Amino acid sequence: MDEGATSVELDRAHVFHSWSAQGSLTPLAVAGGRGSEVWDHDGRRYLDLSSQLVNVNIGHCHPAVVAAIQEQAAVLPTVSPAHAALVRGRAAQAVLRHAPPGMAKVFFTNGGADANENAIRMARVHTGRDKVVSTYRSYHGNTGAAVVATGDWRRVPNEYARGHVHVFGPYPYRSEFWASTPQEEAERAVHHLERVIQAEGPESVAAILLETVPGTAGVLVPPPGYLAGVREVADRYGVLLVLDEVMAGFGRTGAWFALDHWGVRPDLVTFAKGVNSGYVPVGGVIVSEEVAATFEDRVFPGGLTYSGHPLAMASIVAAVEAMEQEGVVLNAARVGADVLGPGLARLAAEHPCVGEVRGLGVFWAVELVTDRATREPVGAGVMGRVRTGLLERGMLAFLVENRIHVVPPCVVTDAEVHRALEALDAVLTDID
Ligand code: PLP
Repeated sequence: MDEGATSVELDRAHVFHSWSAQGSLTPLAVAGGRGSEVWDHDGRRYLDLSSQLVNVNIGHCHPAVVAAIQEQAAVLPTVSPAHAALVRGRAAQAVLRHAPPGMAKVFFTNGGADANENAIRMARVHTGRDKVVSTYRSYHGNTGAAVVATGDWRRVPNEYARGHVHVFGPYPYRSEFWASTPQEEAERAVHHLERVIQAEGPESVAAILLETVPGTAGVLVPPPGYLAGVREVADRYGVLLVLDEVMAGFGRTGAWFALDHWGVRPDLVTFAKGVNSGYVPVGGVIVSEEVAATFEDRVFPGGLTYSGHPLAMASIVAAVEAMEQEGVVLNAARVGADVLGPGLARLAAEHPCVGEVRGLGVFWAVELVTDRATREPVGAGVMGRVRTGLLERGMLAFLVENRIHVVPPCVVTDAEVHRALEALDAVLTDID
C-alpha cells in the first residue's frame, strides 16, 4: 500500500478527531508543505487558503524557523518554567516588541484556549470580581472556561461554567439591533453591552473578553467606534478589557495585532497560532503594567509544565525575526488591499450567491446565500459542493457554516491569489 493510503488507513483506524463524528471523516493525507502550498503523497499540490487552522502565517516549513527548533533541541529541549532560560526571555521580548504601549510581561501557555483560561483567571484575581462578558458569535477555545466564554454555535456541556454572560456584538450584515449603518450598529452594540453590565451588577464583572476581529464566527470586522466604545464602558465600570488575538494577531489582518487598526488599549491580550505559525504548540497572555503589578507581591495561582517550552520559544524568536526581516506583515496588508480584497469584491459583484464579502489583510469571509434579498444562508449540501469544487481545483479553504474563509498565509504571492480567485470564480459560477 502506498504512503497516502496508509496515512488515511491509520488515521481512520486509530486517530480520534476533534469536532467530528468519527465515522463521517474523509481526511486529506497531507505529506508536506512549503510557503503557501501543501502536497499529498502523490505530489498533488494544494494552495493552502486555510493556513491549516488559520495559523501558518509565515508559510509552511520556513527554513529559519525549522533550523531554530533543531538547534534548540540539540542544546536544551526542555526546562522547568521555574528556571530562567535565555530563549524564553528572548521570545517574550520578541512578542512585546509588537505589543501595544503599556504592556509589561508575557505568560506563556500551550495554545490559545489556555491563554484565555489564564487571562480570565488573571482578570478575576486582579479585580476581585467573577463575571466575564463575551459575545455570541465568538470562539475562545475548547477548555473549561474558554469554551463557556465561546459564543458561537457550539454548545459544549461544561460543569465548571460560572460567571459567564454573553452579549451580541456588532454584525452589520445580520444586525441584531435593527441598525441601518455600521456606525449605528457600533453605537447600539456598545449601549447593549453597557446595559447588560449594569443589569449584571458592575461590581461583579471582572472582564470583557472579545476577539478583536471575531474569526471563526465570520471575520466580523468591528464597525468604526465599536472598540473605542467598549474601552469607555470598561473604564467606566472598572472592568478589564481582554482582547483575544489568537487568530487575528501576528500579521493576519495586515498589522502585527488587529487592535493596531483601531488604536484600542487592552489590559490583557491573548495570542497563539501566528506567533510561530504553529510549528510547535504555544500561546500566551500579554499582561499590562497595571495587571502585572498586582502579581508583584501576590502569587498567580496557575502554571503549566510546558509554559515557555524551549522549542516553542526558539520558534517564536525565529518566526518573529523572519517576519520582521521579510516584511511579512506588510505583504499581508498589501495583498489584502490591492489584490485579494478587490478580487473578492469583484466576485461578490458578479455572483448572486455571494451575500457579503468582508475582511482585511489575509483574513476574509465570503458569505453565501440562497437569495440576496432575504440573506438566507446556503445549506450544508451547497457547502459540500464548494469544498469538492475547491479541492478539485487544488485549493484548501476553511469552510464554516455558509462561509468560505479565505485565509492564506501572510506570505501569499499575487500570482497565488490570482489562482485562488480563478478557482473561486469557477466554484461560485456552479453555485449561482
Ligand atoms: N481564540 C481564538 C480567537 C481562536 O480562533 C482559537 C482557535 O481557533 C482559540 C482561541 C483557541 O486556540 P487553541 O485551539 O490553540 O486552543
